[in-house]
Amino acid sequence: MFQVTVLGCGGSVGVPMIGCSCKVCKSNSLYNKRTRSAIFISDENSNILVDFGFDIKDQIVQAEINKLDGAILTHDHADHVAGIDNLRLFTRIQQRPLNIYTDYTTAAAVEHRYQYLFTNKQLIMNSIGFFDKLNIGNLSLQLFRQHHGSIDSIGIRIKNFVYSSDIVDFPVESKQYLYNIEIWVLDCTGDQSSKTHAGLDKILQWNEEYQPQQIFLTNMQHTIDYHEISTRLPKNIRPLYDGYKFIVN
Ligand SMILES: [Zn+2]
Ligand SMILES: [Zn+2]
Repeated sequence: MFQVTVLGCGGSVGVPMIGCSCKVCKSNSLYNKRTRSAIFISDENSNILVDFGFDIKDQIVQAEINKLDGAILTHDHADHVAGIDNLRLFTRIQQRPLNIYTDYTTAAAVEHRYQYLFTNKQLIMNSIGFFDKLNIGNLSLQLFRQHHGSIDSIGIRIKNFVYSSDIVDFPVESKQYLYNIEIWVLDCTGDQSSKTHAGLDKILQWNEEYQPQQIFLTNMQHTIDYHEISTRLPKNIRPLYDGYKFIVN
């Protein structure tokens, strides 16, 4: 049994968005305030962070995360990696370097870009394959490749929980990991898919194809009004909101 905390479920620019006065950006509802997508996975002996974008410092403080056994970076986009400097605090608190895990190409690019964090071992970079199995704490993670426009992102499966942020399609080799899902956190940029992100059109197709018990929408832009979309989704699909927690058995 483990818990998933939704640290953020917003798209790359967050909601509200700078310079926008649409009804979602101006909404008073806390369900329509979205920081950048990230989750925290924990059980008694394991604390795992997935992604660390611009909002990660406030997200970590808000969720009272004081210990990390590892952090996974799903892909090299700024809204997922740009908060990396904050993670060196865990190295200081825990008096051992925090391990970051990501695919080979992303690892090389991030190590180069944030060289100062790695040369003096404030953080340790671990290159992994897209289909590796990863053990962090007590948890066993099956990774898989996802297409995200011109780059690929890492999908994560732990037991019957799957996290698919930033994804527009799945390669054939990844489809085996999409069956028998209990809870699937899935990228939803809006009603229509874009070249880089899934939208409701694709999600409804995948819901039919893979028959997950529950889909939670994440990575949502300001075109999605939490309250409005909730009225027209199938019963097993719900939009997320920041701070939402759930247990996976
Ligand atoms: Zn707006
Ligand atoms: Zn992305």
